[in-house]
Amino acid sequence: MLLKSKLVIAALIALPVSALSIKALTPALKSTGSSSLSINKNVQNRVIKSEQTNPPKKSNPTLKTTKIAHHSRSGWRIPWLGATATVTQRWHSDSWGRYKSVDFGLPAGTPVIAPIASRVLSVCNAGGNHLAIRLKAVDGNRYSLVHVKSRSVYVGRRYKRGQVIGVIARNTPWNRCARSTGPHLHMSFPRQNFRLGRYWFSRSYIPQRLKP
Ligand SMILES: [Zn+2]
Repeated sequence: MLLKSKLVIAALIALPVSALSIKALTPALKSTGSSSLSINKNVQNRVIKSEQTNPPKKSNPTLKTTKIAHHSRSGWRIPWLGATATVTQRWHSDSWGRYKSVDFGLPAGTPVIAPIASRVLSVCNAGGNHLAIRLKAVDGNRYSLVHVKSRSVYVGRRYKRGQVIGVIARNTPWNRCARSTGPHLHMSFPRQNFRLGRYWFSRSYIPQRLKP
């Protein structure tokens, strides 16, 4: 008991008491008890919380960084690995959507991955396992990946974010499934204003070169 009260006194001295009343501190002391360090942490959290709820809000750079980091872990990532792509065709149409597609020039054999957890809605084989794949993302958006060579894609198959779907096809079919004059990835976006990895696509701006 003596030891405990000594700790409490030590903790109170170390705290920015002016920011909080003793009454407000009491529950924190009771719940943690043993270590003055953890008491300090609790109180600091309370101070941060009260700053966030009290207007006017101050921008907190630490919180912003955390948000962006979280976004990059859970948002849409670039749908291929390794190679740097050059955009070979800006917004254009396909049979699934008007002016929502972009062509990324990539070497044949480049692994194509799911940019986000997705389920295959439809697949069309243009010949030589050269596929046009329509997918539905876990966030509800629909998109397509075309000119992907794969033998393992089927309707209803689920892919985790980052899971390899196939590779950029080498052959250049020209039929109802796919029309290609050279190895590239055709991706139809959910909409023109869209963030893919660290790149922002808008109606008037598309990045010229992209690295995963
Ligand atoms: Zn295209």
